[in-house]
Amino acid sequence: MRLSGILLLSLTLSACGITSAPKSDSETVSYLTVLHTNDNHGRFWHNENGEYGMAARKTLIDQLRITAAKNGHEVILLSGGDINTGIPESDLQHAEPDFKGMARLGYDAMALGNHEFDNSRDILAKQIEWAQFPILSANIIDDSTKKPAYQPYALLKKGKLNIAVIGLTTVDTIKIANPDYVAGLNFIEPSVATISALQEIEQQFKPHVTIAVTHMGHYHNAAHGINAPGDVTLARSLPRGALDIIVGGHSQEPVCVDEAGNEDTSFAPGKTCKPDNQNGVWIMQAHEWGKYVGKAEFKISGDAIELLDYQLIPVNLKSANGEFIGQAITPDPAMLDFLAPYQENGAKQLEGAVGTALGFFDGERSTVRFKQSPLADLIISAQMAATKADFGIISGGGIRASINEGEISYKDILKVHPFKNRITYVDWPAKELLDYLNIVARYPADAGAYLQFHNIEFQVSDSTIDNVSINGQPLDMAKTYRMSINSYNAAGGDGYPNLTMHPTYIDTSRTDAEVLKEYIQKFSPINPKTFIR
Ligand SMILES: [Zn+2]
Repeated sequence: MRLSGILLLSLTLSACGITSAPKSDSETVSYLTVLHTNDNHGRFWHNENGEYGMAARKTLIDQLRITAAKNGHEVILLSGGDINTGIPESDLQHAEPDFKGMARLGYDAMALGNHEFDNSRDILAKQIEWAQFPILSANIIDDSTKKPAYQPYALLKKGKLNIAVIGLTTVDTIKIANPDYVAGLNFIEPSVATISALQEIEQQFKPHVTIAVTHMGHYHNAAHGINAPGDVTLARSLPRGALDIIVGGHSQEPVCVDEAGNEDTSFAPGKTCKPDNQNGVWIMQAHEWGKYVGKAEFKISGDAIELLDYQLIPVNLKSANGEFIGQAITPDPAMLDFLAPYQENGAKQLEGAVGTALGFFDGERSTVRFKQSPLADLIISAQMAATKADFGIISGGGIRASINEGEISYKDILKVHPFKNRITYVDWPAKELLDYLNIVARYPADAGAYLQFHNIEFQVSDSTIDNVSINGQPLDMAKTYRMSINSYNAAGGDGYPNLTMHPTYIDTSRTDAEVLKEYIQKFSPINPKTFIR
């Protein structure tokens, strides 16, 4: 579908009732299969149960391409972004196997996700080179040039079909990414960026289909809560007909709705899934990790686009009893050969014991976001040692896995700390510290923000923080106290007060994983009981 140039130039966000799109080629009927994935987060290799993985995905996508060709369909393969971060074998190699593998799968375009900013921008530039396909975002503006910092859209020709693909990235990126890596970038309102991209496209290209590939999250009925607005808000805020399809990511869910358009809570792998439709725009997302390939088949007649079929096809997912759901997919041998050296190289860097745990250090979500935990004490102790701090804090949500009893590998540590946050500190005058505690100590349980603290004690009452002691000594109002904190919370992550402009703020540039590894090496064996308060 497309809008006429004159109409488009006069569009505003409140415009509506656009009905007279050109009908010149309405007799031509074309078919398009849209394949999509999102939020792969480093999972180029299958998991220990043989589920998902890029080699099986290659086999499946090749088959789907053959079927599509037989049925007279053009094919486009898209990703909703967040290829980076989550699996140490990938993270240690800056997702080189993931991006190079995607090029081999024939991806046509991808949205730039917030986790693409987990590495410095020169690494992102390298990833864009490895990908060989466009990595898009129309709403990330370079502060100095006032122009998009990355390729905003791609204009693709598939057979007789002209397809415009516009990339969009969650504006939350500025809050949740590493502040150094988003410096000088401005994340603007996605609908504004979309309109201006559409206007530019209209000057040079007549798309039959217009797709937004986004990394903004899908929130049913636009209920985005504390997150930035996502795909539903975007679809509703654009003039009808401006977009045909949104291929999304970020909320890491299968987007399936029931007949009334509400969330289809009965969806399970292998079941049917009806994508959302808002203001005439089909919105789809394929959960996460390459668990599924989403497949949408469209019939395009002139300006009308009709969804013929939709499936979330499981990629070697298994049921609880260990059987494949749907057809078992044989991983593509050439793809396995390509990926295996990366998997081996990653594994080599991770093997070998860093130290020993004499018990279970519980880092489960149901613990670290609810109560003080020995693992948090261990983590904070390591960060305090690295900064010579008097006490330290971390938000519970920053702890991503447990450490099991027995040998501890670097891989185990990278599971606890996958985000490469840097260790920082602030020297607090006692009065300022009280004000700060009065905020962070009040974050509720069952939230990522929940405060984990070590070597400091206090009582929280209605209006004040009382009985503060640090290292067992009552707070001395004449003194200054050093606090360790990671770069994420210091930069305002999880809603913490931003400390980066504090005159005593220092960023050590060492990562949380490095510091924890060093601490465990030094003090092994470590005992969870000695960390219990
Ligand atoms: Zn994301």
